[in-house]
Formats: sequence, C-alpha cells, structure tokens
Amino acid sequence: MAEYDLAIIGGGINGAGLARDAAGRGLRVLLCEQTDLASGTSSASTKLIHGGLRYLEYGELRLVREALAERERLLRIAPHLVRPQRLVLPVRPGGRPAWVLRLGLFLYDRLGGRGILPGTQRLDLTHHETGLPLQRKYRSGFAFSDCSVDDARLVVLNALDAAERGAAIRTRTKVVRAERDTEWRLILNNQGRRHVATARVLVNAAGPWSGIVSETIVRQDGRPPLRLVKGSHIVVRKLFDHSNGYVLQNDDGRVIFALPFGTDCTLIGTTDEDFADDLDALAPSAHEILYLCRAVTSYFRQAVTPEDVIWAFSGVRSLYDDGARRAQAVTRDYHLSLDERFREAPLLTIYGGKITTYRRLAEAAMAKLSHCFDMRGKAWTGDAPLPGGDVPWNGIDALAAQARRDWPFLDEAAAQRLVRAYGTRLARVLGEGQSSAREPPFGPLSASEVRYLMRYEWARTADDVLWRRTRLGLTLNTDQREALARFMANETI
Ligand code: FAD
Repeated sequence: MAEYDLAIIGGGINGAGLARDAAGRGLRVLLCEQTDLASGTSSASTKLIHGGLRYLEYGELRLVREALAERERLLRIAPHLVRPQRLVLPVRPGGRPAWVLRLGLFLYDRLGGRGILPGTQRLDLTHHETGLPLQRKYRSGFAFSDCSVDDARLVVLNALDAAERGAAIRTRTKVVRAERDTEWRLILNNQGRRHVATARVLVNAAGPWSGIVSETIVRQDGRPPLRLVKGSHIVVRKLFDHSNGYVLQNDDGRVIFALPFGTDCTLIGTTDEDFADDLDALAPSAHEILYLCRAVTSYFRQAVTPEDVIWAFSGVRSLYDDGARRAQAVTRDYHLSLDERFREAPLLTIYGGKITTYRRLAEAAMAKLSHCFDMRGKAWTGDAPLPGGDVPWNGIDALAAQARRDWPFLDEAAAQRLVRAYGTRLARVLGEGQSSAREPPFGPLSASEVRYLMRYEWARTADDVLWRRTRLGLTLNTDQREALARFMANETI
C-alpha cells in the first residue's frame, strides 16, 4: 500500500492550501518544496486579496465573483494576515471615462456579496487627503474596497495547519523523479540525501516550474498549456501619508498599484511580460523599473526615478494558456487538468490561480479527486481559522493592546507587528517573559521568535525569516543579518 494518499509537488499557496484541505479531510498528505515555502511566486505578489477590477474588462465574471467572495472569507479566517484595503482610482483625463469606472465598480460592489467591506464612494480629489500627493490634473476619482495580505505567511500558515492535521511537510526537498505505476514512486532529494516516497495520487502544484516538472520529472507527453508571464514590483520611500492605496490607469491601458508597504514605504507594481528565461535568475529588468517609475511619476507630484528604488523583486505567473495575444489579457482563472489512465495512478496538474482564490482552487481539486479516495468530510476550510486567526476580523487592535499588557516591554509597533504575524499564538512565540533579555536581539527580532520560526515554521536561513516569515527584510542592517545567520547556523532544532 502507498505511504501517502496525496503527494504534492510545490510549497506555494496552491500546494500548501491543497495540503491543508486534504489533510483536514483525513487524507495522508505529503508536500515537497524544493527550497523554502513561498519561495516562488507566492511571496512576489502585489499582496492583494482582490476581485480584480481589471478582469471585468475581459469578461472574467466567474473569477471575479469567486475572488470577491473570498475577500471577506479570508479576512474572517486569517484576520491577522488579511486586512481591509481601501483603494483610490483617480479618473485619468483621456483614460477610461468616469461612467465606465462607475459601472465597473457598481458591478464590483454587487457581484461577490459584501458584509464587512464598505462600498464604492465618489471622491473629489481636490478636497480629499488622497488627492494631496497627486498632480492637480487628477480632480476626481473613486474609492473602493479590497484587502491586503501577507502572502508568504498565508502559505506558511496553511502548511502549518496542514502539518497539525497530519500532513508531512518537507521543505528543501526536491522531487527529482516521479515513476508512474498503479501508484506513484517519488525520488526525493533533501539537500543531497535521497529518499523514496509512494503515493496514490500526485499533484503538480509547481507554479512556474510546472512545465519543467511535467516534461522532465513526470515525463508527460505533449507541451503543457502553460504561459509564463513575469511581473515585477519596486519599493520606494513612502509617497503618501495615509493608509489608502492607489490604482493608477497607465497610458498603455494597464493598471499599476501604489500601496502602503510596511510603516514607511510604498509598493509599486506590476509589469506583464512573457517569460522564457531561467527561473533561478529572476530579477526586475532596468526597463521594467523605468516603466513603473514613469507610471507613478505621471500621477504623483513627487517624481520617482530608478535611484529612489530601495528594493525590487519579480515573480512569474504560471497561467493557463488560453491563446490570448497579449500577456496582460491571458486568463487569471485556474484550470485543473486530471490525467487518469487505466491501471495507472492519477496525476492532477494545476495551472493559473491567484493567491485570492487558493482556497476555492483546493476545494475544486478535492472535488475533482473525490472518486479516488474514501474521504471523510465535505468542504471545510471556509470557516476554519488559520493558526492564530481565531479572533474577530476587527479584533487585532484589541489583541495588540492585550499583548502590551502581557509583555510590557513591547512598544505599540512591536505589538502590532507580532500580533499581525502570530495572532492568538503570540504566547507560543514569546513565552512567559522576555527571553531576549539575556540574548542578542536581531533588530526587532528576538531570539525566542527566531527559535519559534525554526522549530514550528520550517525556517532554516536568515532569508527564510526575514523575507518569508516576517517582513523585516528591509529593516535589519548587514551586521544584524549576519548575526541572525550565525545564530541560526548554531541553533539545533
Ligand atoms: P508558486 O508560489 O511559484 O509555488 C510553486 C512552488 O513549487 C515553488 O515554491 C517551487 O520552489 C516549488 N517547486 C518547483 N519544482 C519543484 C520540485 N521539483 N520539487 C519540489 N518543489 C518544487 N494573486 C493575488 O491573489 N493577488 C495579487 O495581488 C497577486 N499579485 C501578483 C503579482 C505578480 C507580479 C505575480 C507574478 C502574481 C500575482 N498574483 C496575485 C498571483 C499569485 O501570486 C500566484 O497565482 C500564486 O502565487 C501561485 O502560487 P503557486 O503555488 O501556484 O506557485
């Protein structure tokens, strides 16, 4: 008998979300991630849980409706990671007319149902704080609702919940070969150590690598229907002093987001370029950086130049190839392809998808595979909180205030950061007292937090901690980073 019911290749949001759903239904699940959880596209997103206003123009009503409904669901199951994000859409002279924007937003407000998030509001930008940083020609606009998310932590907490429900989560474990018989025999490489695992069903959730997995690891015939589209972001010192974000219509018809990032930065993105290069050498090009700088400079009073960029990153969307001509027009909806053959173990390949729709994608995958297993239970993830998320959606400030009473050495910023990362599990991170008193802190990070991340959240390197478990990558200086790396190298877990 196979060791696992379901083996998943890829620890991005789709793999981790599916592992959680399947483990919660009683399946024996193995998830293999070749490097760190969320090290692929799932930490390089615009970090929005959104319906995707732009997709309405492409008639993607199914996707928009599903994604809109997910906003409040994810806000309820992970209120520490997800928060309401008000977005300002200025009317651009010569761009889409105001009535078109109003019509789109009218649909946006109604398609997916809203209970928590406020609806669209018309703005006079000449008399509203969100108009202050903009050039004078932007005189009116709209404000509407979406949510923002800590994308990488969403992946990690799905994996954590899957593990707590019995799944085996193997990071730094590459699936190097998959041999198909009546069950799958997987050859795994864990940092030079070879392992073998067997499973009844295999899922290819390798995101942009799924074509490589299909061709060289699973060795499927035919070209996978995959379109790789690169998107880059830049981060600059903050361009505005309020908590709203902006959706900017660019002169090429695309939209660019300018969003609050951390306490003192603005995140600007993204681009859409067909991608055929090496996934391991992914970086924003000078051309993309200039494109984003020009797009925001055409809106804000303050010009943004490549010299202002303090960080830039890229991700690759692995979209289902629907034959669209332009990269921006390719569908963002997901597609599940089930390959079943007589007396051979099934293979499910995931194409496309959004962070926003990961939970629905997992449900659809489980429905597609339901005949393969004797599963207990039905769809369950819609109202089961992620670890630390068992708090009301608007209860985070109260939780931060409680944290300051429980650990008086925390200032407001530290309490907010910790509660937004760990929610009600903060006590497990900080323990009874200030364990950092005798140990060196690494900037805002305490030794006890680092230890927690190593023991319970699969963090192995300083980059895992700084870029994918916390958002402190831009905060620590070189000395603190090196001290953190040394500490982690000496820590036994
Ligand atoms: P990935 O996150 O790439 O995960 C695949 C994983 O598979 C990787 O971690 C990789 O290391 C692993 N892997 C590959 N090969 C192997 C192997 N042989 N063995 C083991 N592991 C392997 N969505 C939203 O909802 N909101 C947004 O604001 C948003 N913005 C975006 C902006 C950009 C620029 C991009 C590119 C995407 C954006 N998206 C957004 C979409 C979203 O980020 C992706 O749909 C999602 O992250 C895809 O997740 P995934 O799990 O399929 O892929």
